[in-house]
Amino acid sequence: MKVTKVCCQGCGSPLAVNETIRYATCNHCGSNLEIIHDPSVTHTRILEKLERTTDTLADDVKILQLQNDLQLLDREWERYRETVCFRSENGTLSEPSAAFPAVVRGVTIGGGIILCMAVWLGNLPWGMALLGIAVPILGNYAAHSYAGGLRDYRRAKERYQSRRYGLVAAIASLRGSPEPPRKRPAFPARIRIPFMRSGRVES
Ligand SMILES: [Zn+2]
Repeated sequence: MKVTKVCCQGCGSPLAVNETIRYATCNHCGSNLEIIHDPSVTHTRILEKLERTTDTLADDVKILQLQNDLQLLDREWERYRETVCFRSENGTLSEPSAAFPAVVRGVTIGGGIILCMAVWLGNLPWGMALLGIAVPILGNYAAHSYAGGLRDYRRAKERYQSRRYGLVAAIASLRGSPEPPRKRPAFPARIRIPFMRSGRVES
């Protein structure tokens, strides 16, 4: 069998290989080599560099996919916000207000009391007392469903932020960044919804 002398591409040491060998490890420096048998010349190529390049490419593809996911997530969240938040005059979206249910309850209960007082003092017909009772009940119902919507919004926001954090951290680790931003976006620590049984603590 024909034996050819080749040089290790890692350290330059002479290596003897026969023509059937395609891969070899240099005994001097430990490089993994591919033996390339061209018609005119036999030479070696370091495999690790090749693998490293392939790994880097795969990471780049993964980073692109994750960045794409991130964009989709942000766009999805913005679309959701459009449906839930209020657009102010200057065009910015403002989140549902935690104070709103309390205001609705306060105003409707106050209105109901005033109506009933007016009936009691004889300024209004008796039928208006029914309205004085119905208004706070309706107000309470509206406030309750608003508070439920607010809770859904806050849960969705938490889900969005934790998914976003996961994507950002994954991209940072693929890029080899030392530390992904560990702090998650701040969110009101305690949400007090008046007249609800408990204020949920979120972190
Ligand atoms: Zn070598």
